[in-house]
Amino acid sequence: MSEDVFKKIISHSKEYGFVFQSSEIYDGLSAVYDYGQMGVELKNNIKKYWWDSMVLLHDNVVGIDSAIFMHPTIWKASGHVDAFNDPLIDNKDSKKRYRADVLIEDHLAKIDDKINKEVEKAAKRFGETFDEAMYRETNPRILENQAKRDEIHTRFAKALNDSNLEDLRQIILDCEIVCPVSGTRNWTEVRQFNLMFATEMGSTADGAMKVYLRPETAQGIFVNFLNVQKTGRMKIPFGIAQIGKAFRNEIVARQFIFRMREFEQMEMQFFVRPGEELEWFAKWKDIRIKWHKALGYGDNKYRFHDHDKLAHYANAATDIEYEMPFGFKEVEGIHSRTDFDLKSHEEFSGKKLQYFDPELNKSYTPYVIETSIGVDRMFLSTLSASYCEEELEGGESRVVLKLPPALAPIKLGVLPLVKKDGLPEKAREIIDALKFDFKCQYDEKDSIGKRYRRQDAIGTPFCVTVDHQSLEDNTVTIRYRDTMTQERVDIDKLSDIISEKVSMKNLLKTIG
Ligand code: ATP
Repeated sequence: MSEDVFKKIISHSKEYGFVFQSSEIYDGLSAVYDYGQMGVELKNNIKKYWWDSMVLLHDNVVGIDSAIFMHPTIWKASGHVDAFNDPLIDNKDSKKRYRADVLIEDHLAKIDDKINKEVEKAAKRFGETFDEAMYRETNPRILENQAKRDEIHTRFAKALNDSNLEDLRQIILDCEIVCPVSGTRNWTEVRQFNLMFATEMGSTADGAMKVYLRPETAQGIFVNFLNVQKTGRMKIPFGIAQIGKAFRNEIVARQFIFRMREFEQMEMQFFVRPGEELEWFAKWKDIRIKWHKALGYGDNKYRFHDHDKLAHYANAATDIEYEMPFGFKEVEGIHSRTDFDLKSHEEFSGKKLQYFDPELNKSYTPYVIETSIGVDRMFLSTLSASYCEEELEGGESRVVLKLPPALAPIKLGVLPLVKKDGLPEKAREIIDALKFDFKCQYDEKDSIGKRYRRQDAIGTPFCVTVDHQSLEDNTVTIRYRDTMTQERVDIDKLSDIISEKVSMKNLLKTIG
């Protein structure tokens, strides 16, 4: 897959009502998007798949829905006020703003590219006798570039770890990195930029309180840990799940819905006995990758990326990456967060957040395993996996979204062959009988072929055509999206045939 396909996916999303740029008639708001009539259905289905997999399949996982606004001290305790920063740098000529770390990473990627091109060229030149490993170890130009790369990388990692902003800037200068817009090296200092959006609450004379739009949903779970544990009589180990909006003032927001300023997260915090966290970390890694793979996007499209540099609160962390059109990218993070958050909230709130373990006959602060996945990134991986352009017989082609039937926005298209002779009424009758089971769409405009194409483009797994014979023997032609095969079936059997294939329950059974 390539950037070219990515562009097609973006325009397809717009054309068929999946995703629109926010505030489009006012020329848009950068990195904010709206979901359209198809997008919202697909998104809701993704959320349902996640939610049910958490709270139905695990009797020790329950859900909550906490507020977006929270007491500002929560973000002190979580570390977000002091440390949720990106290093930014401006180019004085173009006035464009960049993330200093991203500029350096891009520079490193360019050196990698150079090395790989050199190897490719040599491979062509030498043909079958080419020994790549040997070439990499002995070719002077490659060795020189590799040494340069390693040196920059070591310095970069150290500067990041030490939050050494001067050195980050110095690396940019030493590597002679130029602004892609102005082409100059006229850089400002590097500054830390906090990613949280702030606003004011209340309007009393003695001042309003500064509150933040939450940058993650997790803290709403931590501060409700005892509420849920006590009122739900939960025993450790147990989990709390939540789906909700999060907000980050991303400096460089690009790549469509991959990096947004307002997005949605599905997070689950699993509370365990101290000392058992790494065992649970491994279990949740396994559960979560199975959830992804059950959708059938291809097992080779996923990989784990373990973190070398752990956040200050974590003792193990991994990302589940999906191969997007622009490479393998993080879709979900799984972290072993130790007791950092609960301990910190105890300290800042002055309230005890401990659990009395009847089996051990003692109280302790539980350890936490977190699984955190972005709804929008899951949506993007779903589109990327499903988007297909197919050549058909007779020189025609079609664009089809091969969505998992359980996620498809519309499950059945109902198409009367002609707009008369009682066929539209018969079609409406079918929808009236099936609308309680799943979402149907009626379409009578244009030729049947064109109507099939439209349903293919939004990923509808089934279409039925109502014709004159339907009035006589109560049968219709059902057409399957992926194979395009058709067969005659009894109208009374439609509910069974389709329900079985589109059922969330059957999808969940493959992982439950
Ligand atoms: P990245 O390194 O890509 O910025 P992150 O490591 O900061 O992501 P987390 O804080 O671990 O992300 O958030 C958990 C999940 O939330 C991510 O795996 C991702 O799916 C989603 N997410 C985070 N930031 C964004 C964003 N700006 N837009 C869309 N989804 C996001």
